[in-house]
Amino acid sequence: MAQNQKTPAGPVEFEGVGLHSGKRIGIRILPAAADSGIVFVRTDEGRTEIRASHRLLGASDYSTALCRGSVVVATVEHLLSALHGLSIDNARIELDGPEVPILDGSARPFVDRIREAGIRTLPRARRFLMLTRPVRVQAGEREILAIPDNALHATYAIDFPHPAIGCQTVAAEITEEAYVESIAPARTFCLLRDVEAMRRSGLALGGSLDNALVVGDEGVLNGSLRFPDEFARHKVLDLVGDLALLEAPLRAHVIAFKGGHKLHAALVGRIMSSRTAWSLGTSDDLLPDARVAEFAHLKDRLLPHAAVHAG
Ligand SMILES: [Zn+2]
Repeated sequence: MAQNQKTPAGPVEFEGVGLHSGKRIGIRILPAAADSGIVFVRTDEGRTEIRASHRLLGASDYSTALCRGSVVVATVEHLLSALHGLSIDNARIELDGPEVPILDGSARPFVDRIREAGIRTLPRARRFLMLTRPVRVQAGEREILAIPDNALHATYAIDFPHPAIGCQTVAAEITEEAYVESIAPARTFCLLRDVEAMRRSGLALGGSLDNALVVGDEGVLNGSLRFPDEFARHKVLDLVGDLALLEAPLRAHVIAFKGGHKLHAALVGRIMSSRTAWSLGTSDDLLPDARVAEFAHLKDRLLPHAAVHAG
């Protein structure tokens, strides 16, 4: 039996501040029909609908924004990550401002509330985007390689020039259970010294110690970490959210070294434009083991120093 599409069972409402705009914004996550995808609706802008799609990708400097004409929805990645992590294919997301509220800086509040409200299975098969050959993007030393696999795996390495962060590598198969337990709670982070510069550029106006890990010279300023490698786990959270812009759940092993929203967006664009690198199929359409094994040796190539062996 192939896996079917899902949607939230009932409305889920939030109110909170936008990280970059500093505005208070209300948001409602509503059920949607099969094959309708994830669609944002700006209720304060003539109910303009903005689909969560690579075709509507806007800026991706510090967060991921979608835009249609002059109408924008910014900081979509944590909510998209929560939906993608919960295998939700279809939802209508109404919001009365330009940005998804940041809440606690992780995807956990979205995940918890959506699960409380329930998730409904729709009578239509999910269509997966199956990578059939490797796709790579690079910008200087930053690099992401996606190789064929029969499930979504993420291996993410960061090397941050700060002793409190440093080198961290996370490797996980992104099952729903693993996502909820070990990825969704990881919070966004920033360096104290970068906050001033971001504010001068009109960014992070809603940022506070309640919605981001802030790292000062002595270490994390706001309490304890949820995981010792919370920083790298948050990068996986962001990656899962940005991959939702493919509009179909990806089946591949994504290996990232010092990535970020810009490089995630580049990967999504490269996959979509490499029409011979993927095919669409249901959960029953698996690649032959030999095809997956053919590319397994590439896993260690990108992260030679990290001795990573993802399960
Ligand atoms: Zn993030």
